[in-house]
Amino acid sequence: MTNQQLMDEDLKYIFHPCSQMKDHEKLPLIPIKKGKGSHITDFEDNSYLDCISSWWVNLFGHSNDYINSKIRDQIEELEHVIFAGFTHKPAIDLASRLVKITPKYLDKVFFADNGSSAVEIALKMSFQYFANRGERRTIFVSLQNSYHGETMGALAVSDTGLYKDIYTDILIKTVQAKSPALVSEDEAIEDMKSILKEHRYKISSVIIEPLVQCAGSMKMYNPSYLKRLRTLCDEEGIFLIADEIAVGFGRTGTMFAVDQAGISPDFMCLSKGLTGGYMPLSVVMMTDEIYDAFYCDYNEGRSFLDSHSYTGNTIACAVANAVLDIFEKDNIIEKNLKKIELIRKKTDKFRELENVLEVRQTGMICAIELKGYDTKERIGLKIFQEALKEGVYIRPLGNVIYFMPPYCFTKKEIKQMIDITYLVVQGLLK
Ligand SMILES: *Cc1c(COP(=O)(O)O)cnc(C)c1O
Repeated sequence: MTNQQLMDEDLKYIFHPCSQMKDHEKLPLIPIKKGKGSHITDFEDNSYLDCISSWWVNLFGHSNDYINSKIRDQIEELEHVIFAGFTHKPAIDLASRLVKITPKYLDKVFFADNGSSAVEIALKMSFQYFANRGERRTIFVSLQNSYHGETMGALAVSDTGLYKDIYTDILIKTVQAKSPALVSEDEAIEDMKSILKEHRYKISSVIIEPLVQCAGSMKMYNPSYLKRLRTLCDEEGIFLIADEIAVGFGRTGTMFAVDQAGISPDFMCLSKGLTGGYMPLSVVMMTDEIYDAFYCDYNEGRSFLDSHSYTGNTIACAVANAVLDIFEKDNIIEKNLKKIELIRKKTDKFRELENVLEVRQTGMICAIELKGYDTKERIGLKIFQEALKEGVYIRPLGNVIYFMPPYCFTKKEIKQMIDITYLVVQGLLK
């Protein structure tokens, strides 16, 4: 089959996510036949360097031999089993390993099957924690420019107007504080303080994306903000939820972004990299104190009765265990340091271009923000198309180009990703 035939068939039946389908009258959808390592290949044997880890999920390359072998083993044993009343070894192994590698007070693991669900669970639990003690705390605080997912609760704590505005009337009540990625740290902390004071005893939790607001155009801030926020939450007696769905598992240079601040959140949401880009799975890590607030005789009514059909799927858990094996046996965090440095060095030259406003980087995330383009021009789309012709797949967010490669990228692939993008951005000036 050709790319064109598959695309025609696709458009007959499928409504794609985060897409305007009319775009595809002109813009080809690319049917991918195969993935191996850093590359994905279409039905006409064009191969593309996957510089965004397939929506930020892939860590060790497509069709990774080690992960594949672990999936084969697991499928032969058990594909799925109900997770209420039953349990299984892959989930037990995974939970105990996650407790070991996450910050110190995160000692219990609740499973779900995608990032947005993990956020919903953290929000519901933080509300119910107080409800179980007879307090009604109905407000959640998040940051401006944040993104926490697409389900109604997750959308309510997000601040990406493009995805949210139309639903405003039907969303739960939240307040957004100024983001340290957009204003100075002091200003952001002062704003947070005044919000926490204004709504004292009505707030259950503050949810944030540590260090990088990814969907919010890869805006970045310093670990020191997290430390100060931790202190504020402690003073107010409210929970801090770290949404590490995008930044967890080495993305920011450390295993978890909060590690750079030396803090421990009360909840931590993990997904995306958790399965190295293979399977939908998510977890909410929490403290024993939170766990205990739900622990009672069944008829007391303090139970947390949330569930999803595919919660703690065995294959997904086996994959996540394989991902953790690779981190350990291949010393990934340390090996990434050299790659992070190479990206830093190589992207420096973008700063000289007249159409570049800023180059920013946190670990394995590097963003190049352009200037001088109206949003209606959809310059990102043009850059995507030009780079793709050269075999490099990037997916700019508006005027912001970013690199978020899988950790299997070689030096040569890092150079190719940056050099080709540079030529495309430079070419816009002609
Ligand atoms: C992707 C993402 C989510 C949502 O995860 P899904 O699996 O897409 O529902 C939530 N928070 C952050 C920070 C994300 O990047």
